[in-house]
Amino acid sequence: MARYVFITGGVVSSLGKGLASAALGALLQARGYTVRLRKLDPYLNVDPGTMSPFEHGEVYVTDDGAETDLDLGHYERFTGVAARKTDSVSSGRIYSNVLEKERRGDYLGKTIQVIPHVTNEIKEWIAIGDTEVDFMLCEIGGTVGDIEGLPFFEAIRQFGQERPRGECIYVHLTLLPYVAASGELKTKPTQHSVKELRSIGIAPDVLVCRTEHPIPEKEIQKIALFCNVRENAVIPAHDLKSIYEAPLAYHEVGLDQAVLDAFGISPAPRPDLVRWNNVVDAVHNPDGEVNIAIVGKYTQLEDAYKSIAEALTHGGIANRVKVTSEWLDSEIFEREDPAPYLENFDGILVPGGFGERGTEGMIHAAEFARLRNVPYFGICLGMQMAVIEATRNLMGVARAGSEEFDHEAEKKGGEKRFEPVVYHLKEWLEGNRTIKREVTDDKGGTMRLGAYNANLAEGSQVAKIYGDQAISERHRHRYEVALSYREKLEGVGLKFSGMSPDGRLPEIVEIPGHPWFVGVQFHPELKSKPFEPHPLFADFVRAAVEQGRLV
Ligand code: GLN
Repeated sequence: MARYVFITGGVVSSLGKGLASAALGALLQARGYTVRLRKLDPYLNVDPGTMSPFEHGEVYVTDDGAETDLDLGHYERFTGVAARKTDSVSSGRIYSNVLEKERRGDYLGKTIQVIPHVTNEIKEWIAIGDTEVDFMLCEIGGTVGDIEGLPFFEAIRQFGQERPRGECIYVHLTLLPYVAASGELKTKPTQHSVKELRSIGIAPDVLVCRTEHPIPEKEIQKIALFCNVRENAVIPAHDLKSIYEAPLAYHEVGLDQAVLDAFGISPAPRPDLVRWNNVVDAVHNPDGEVNIAIVGKYTQLEDAYKSIAEALTHGGIANRVKVTSEWLDSEIFEREDPAPYLENFDGILVPGGFGERGTEGMIHAAEFARLRNVPYFGICLGMQMAVIEATRNLMGVARAGSEEFDHEAEKKGGEKRFEPVVYHLKEWLEGNRTIKREVTDDKGGTMRLGAYNANLAEGSQVAKIYGDQAISERHRHRYEVALSYREKLEGVGLKFSGMSPDGRLPEIVEIPGHPWFVGVQFHPELKSKPFEPHPLFADFVRAAVEQGRLV
């Protein structure tokens, strides 16, 4: 059975709980343990799939096709452990499971209550896969005291109570605000937050205190005394230049040691931190810099493209260069010539997105990249727009477009405007199962989601980049590039170099002879790690480095 670390937060949100959890996971791995990380989110959406990227940042997709919280991306990037459907759960999911059971009569006529029915459901969820790893790390979203979070806090309290002593510990993350007028770090909010936690029966074993200034020894002693934790379990967490410093930084201040101490694991195995030393060394000592333009539609909120930003950093690590990316709103290019905006970049990336807004601008960006021989990386919507661009401008099909935009317009009473080069997929194979969907199906359930295999054409650029002809990548989209123009497009230089195993769904297009022009229907950014940069991102950044030499 696994040992459990429950990670909660207090005082304010956005303290970096996800990052602290991920870094702790990485440190336990460095000491030879196996880990799994899990996120319990108090909001009422059943999953984040239907939330706008502005609300919740990126939707992270797992191999098994779950649409999850972006913290799962951190977990994967730091531990390399592929997240699963069962690693992310919200109040909405828990309640809907409970209500489904109630309707089925599973509770045999009992009155259904938060305690025990909801809390039992949460505990069952927490324990899934319990025998597979040494440590299960469960992060609770939000902060202690949130109304929605209460059933989760109650469930983790019960969970610790029901397990043998020493199998569960609680790590609480707080903030020590700095009051400039008196030049002091204030511990009171932390004391209150711990008091709140203790009032619901949870006594933290380790306190991680975010602070902009070093914590004086006497303040550590004070926190320990008032919050009832050991002095060496008060862990200062300073701001970092790069998130990838987190494992080494947390190790330095003793987080992993404090956690192992709390479990009574002694002597603790020594950590092997070579992997993280290498990553940090590459991040801090680049040999050059490249500038990438990200032309998308959710550019105001960087978290909306979190994994893309990280995967570009990993591409930089692979080439020992710093990647500076600038986010450009594609709508600009619907009014203005993209050249003055894009001319000075070494590469252009058009990421995923939903809906028509901004897509004409993406098409102009793809055209610019194709004509000016600038490396172009189109991801999902970015691939679809590159195909539309080629169909319009290389084959003269002026009305080439995506059914997605017609569907959107038709809902508002508009007319069909496009020749669908990108169409709505209603049936596909998942392994040997046929999946059928209608446009009108549930919003959350109509997408091709999760890992699918693809075969890469022999001799293609992507086969060289992957060093393999069989790949598996994660998907999240409703629409697909049509095969109707394949032959003609290949005739004018846009090669369909990756296809689904049954040959029906285009997965990758590329332009041979262009310095780097690749469009992918999937999301490679979701699988990139700092210690194992995704081959497409590594090679895109390499091409951008070459481009930089030319400029
Ligand atoms: N909107 C497009 C589709 O559904 C692309 C989705 C995406 O970029 N993730 O097919």
